[in-house]
Amino acid sequence: MSDCLFCSIVAGEIPANVVLRTDEFVAFTDIDPQAPVHTLVIPIEHHESAASMAQANPELAGRLLATTEQVARAAGIDDYRLVFNTGAGAGQSVFHAHGHVLGGRAMTWPPG
Ligand code: 5GP
Ligand code: ZN
Repeated sequence: MSDCLFCSIVAGEIPANVVLRTDEFVAFTDIDPQAPVHTLVIPIEHHESAASMAQANPELAGRLLATTEQVARAAGIDDYRLVFNTGAGAGQSVFHAHGHVLGGRAMTWPPG
């Protein structure tokens, strides 16, 4: 999608600190980190949300989940919180599916 921020990052039109790239996913550092490690992992294929990706291509969604472990390791952590904000009311601001991989400090639950 030409007007999608994350498609532009995938295409290299907008710079990002890419920590992992596969033929299906790109993981890069969030521009406004909420934890010492805050990496976004996105499918190269455009989907509006994690749920719509899972409905359209469940295998891809499963592989994205599996890839989060590799993303965390690439960022130097073992344990992490995985967040998919879904819908503007829940804080989704970019409508290209993405998981937030958060860690590097004690992750309290419930979140503050
Ligand atoms: P959402 O709020 O949709 O769940 O997550 C979108 C995330 O994208 C936010 O955490 C925000 O900081 C991050 N973000 C927004 N614009 C950019 C950008 O241009 N580059 C990077 N690396 N992250 C961005
Ligand atoms: Zn996109």
